[in-house]
Amino acid sequence: MPNNKKDYYRILGVARNATPEDIKKAYRKLALKYHPDRNPGNKQAEEKFKEAAEAYEVLHDPEKRRLYDLYGHEGVSSTGFTGFHDFSDIFRSFSDIFEDLFGFGGFSGVRESRVQAGSDLRYDLVLDFMDATLGTEVTIEVPRIINCRTCGGSGAKPGTSKIPCPQCGGRGVVSRTHGIFQITTTCSRCGGLREFVAEPCPACHGEGQVRDKKKLKVKIPPGMESGTHLIMAGEGNEGRFGGPPGDLYIILQVKPHQLFKREGFDLRLEVPISFVQAALGTRLTIPTLTGSQELTIPPGSQPGEIIRIKNEGVPYPKGARRGDLLVQLKVVIPTSLTPRQQELLKELAKEETGGQSATFTEPAGQDESVLRKIWNSVKNGITTIKNQ
Ligand SMILES: [Zn+2]
Ligand SMILES: [Zn+2]
Repeated sequence: MPNNKKDYYRILGVARNATPEDIKKAYRKLALKYHPDRNPGNKQAEEKFKEAAEAYEVLHDPEKRRLYDLYGHEGVSSTGFTGFHDFSDIFRSFSDIFEDLFGFGGFSGVRESRVQAGSDLRYDLVLDFMDATLGTEVTIEVPRIINCRTCGGSGAKPGTSKIPCPQCGGRGVVSRTHGIFQITTTCSRCGGLREFVAEPCPACHGEGQVRDKKKLKVKIPPGMESGTHLIMAGEGNEGRFGGPPGDLYIILQVKPHQLFKREGFDLRLEVPISFVQAALGTRLTIPTLTGSQELTIPPGSQPGEIIRIKNEGVPYPKGARRGDLLVQLKVVIPTSLTPRQQELLKELAKEETGGQSATFTEPAGQDESVLRKIWNSVKNGITTIKNQ
């Protein structure tokens, strides 16, 4: 098999953040298109079929996908996976998919093993902004399929045993003649399992599996955003006949916050101040993720200006690092003024047109200055923005 260095996401035609369902869907499409039964003797289709299987093998396995995302093809070969050597390899690996597509595993025949891996599950979890940002622990109830505890997954009523399938006589396959061909297909009655439940288990009606709900405690690390996937290995549907369970994919959806907006690991907070506060400078109490903090607005601050507070942003999922808090000043021009305020502003206007323009620096000790008067008249109106 030639060393294939094509990008796996590109081969399947999915985005890098594709969900496991997307990846499975994309692979099924390609497997159907390039299946050797549909493209006899077509070398190009054969290559494409193998290529797609290799991409799917890596991307549908959370650990292999993680390694591939981090280190590319090198990372995958470190797991010992070197691609598929022939078709039967592929059919064996993805028998569940080929059974869905064609009604039998690969070409046709008796199922070699009854072992079936459980399928993966998806759970959509909605989180408050603070919980997702700071991390929390939640309990979720996940509906899933488990093996029937009454019959141990066999589907047979306890105390009874299975009998050879009456339709195929216990061969697992049925043959019929079509012109000069003899076509052998998997028995539809027993699904190639050769056996048949004589008396079905009353708890699962012979299915061997039942629906169940499981409560799970999920630790949400800090710094989570909408679309983040948390994978709980082995918490998907149970496998059959000793097959491994699937995984649970928890897809996070984070509600927006009233005040804070995320920009990567920085947080943006818009703080309204009056034009007088902007001109003269002021001190404000602003909300932070974990409480509040005093902030000095320097005199002469401009609308839209950003004051960066180090290390008060979103915590990274691992380690003590945090982003920054970006305080953006929003200068609010008053829509109504008291007669006294109007008088003071008119006085200010006179001062500006009188040849000397206002310098807009913090009035230092000149208690009777116009700026000081304005300052005093509005400073009691300074708003403290409450956290939520
Ligand atoms: Zn049962
Ligand atoms: Zn049968």
